[in-house]
Amino acid sequence: MKLTFLGTGTSSGVPVIGCSCKVCLSSDPKDTRLRCSALLEIGDQVILIDAGPDVRMQLLHHRIQRIDSILITHSHFDHVIGLDELRPFSWHYPMPLYSDIPSFKDIKRVFEYLFNNTNIQIGGGLTQFIPHTIEHYQEFSIEKTQILPLLVMHGRLPITGYKIGELAYLTDVKTLPQKTIDSVKGVHTLVLDCLRLKKHSTHINLEEALALIEQIQPQNTYFIHMNHELSHQEWTDLLPPNVHVAYDNQQLNIPYL
Ligand SMILES: [Zn+2]
Ligand SMILES: [Zn+2]
Repeated sequence: MKLTFLGTGTSSGVPVIGCSCKVCLSSDPKDTRLRCSALLEIGDQVILIDAGPDVRMQLLHHRIQRIDSILITHSHFDHVIGLDELRPFSWHYPMPLYSDIPSFKDIKRVFEYLFNNTNIQIGGGLTQFIPHTIEHYQEFSIEKTQILPLLVMHGRLPITGYKIGELAYLTDVKTLPQKTIDSVKGVHTLVLDCLRLKKHSTHINLEEALALIEQIQPQNTYFIHMNHELSHQEWTDLLPPNVHVAYDNQQLNIPYL
């Protein structure tokens, strides 16, 4: 299966509006970090993980013709606010949307006009989703693809990570329950939050990320959700050989089984 990092930045994106630090002014394309989102192509299935405020440009950049399903990690702005940008796809078919129950409640509140069918005018064409609520550690399948939702603690907020074949996608992590660590142990590719060098209340920093890698023992790790503190090159210089800092538009081939 192929993973494309559509965005690898923290909630503000990089460059940050109004910031003139060296990373925000960098001409290296690897220092532009749109909001976190990823595209998975497995056989003929195209799965989108999260749809933040940059999703329209991300999908146009890659000329994505089709999304078969959407997986949501949690309902913060930088992960869901672009859901209604997917409207052109739903002119052709409604899109299955997989989310944990608390995130789905928030999505329904934010996009009330899409889900409240007592009070709508159909004329403009509404984005149509087929909601599927998921439970942590209860495997489900999209066509032939098995997906395991994992509990991730984003500070005090329980959110969702996903294990799909030999990929574990864990964004917005502060701590991981032992059951999640056991579920992803030894995985081929771990995609992991790593906000910055200093500690933060709801995201892991480099030191905490390296400690989780020590426990999980993945073959390769790719950091996402970085802020503007370090450039891609500065991150790369700090990391051991099998730990990488992901960059926007990077593509990886990952074994499914
Ligand atoms: Zn986030
Ligand atoms: Zn900056």
